Amino acid sequence: MLNKENENIQNTPEEIKFIPCTLCGDCTERCPRQLDIPTLIAAYNEAVQNYSWYVEDVIYKLEKNKKPQSCINCGSCIPLCPRDIDIPDIMKKFSKIIKENS
Ligand code: SF4
Ligand code: SF4
Repeated sequence: MLNKENENIQNTPEEIKFIPCTLCGDCTERCPRQLDIPTLIAAYNEAVQNYSWYVEDVIYKLEKNKKPQSCINCGSCIPLCPRDIDIPDIMKKFSKIIKENS
């Protein structure tokens, strides 16, 4: 799902992958996997710029079933996000980045 912000994102290379998450946490209420979505999106935003020690540390400290790969793409989080962020898509992209850097 693309929102207005994501459409704008496509205009400038520097912002193309940045997700405008406010870390409000509303999306976590119905996640059947109880993923810490705000933390994962913050790490994703870092990872797309630089797969740094910070990203590795966040991923390393997560329990195996709390990593972005655990997202089942159910979509329950999407209607809860005031920024209309396609969270499962971000989890999918983040999983790919992690795999490429492991
Ligand atoms: S789509 Fe993924 S992150 Fe969103 S509620 Fe479902 S399992 Fe959780
Ligand atoms: S609801 Fe949206 S803006 Fe709030 S923490 Fe979740 S992804 Fe970020």
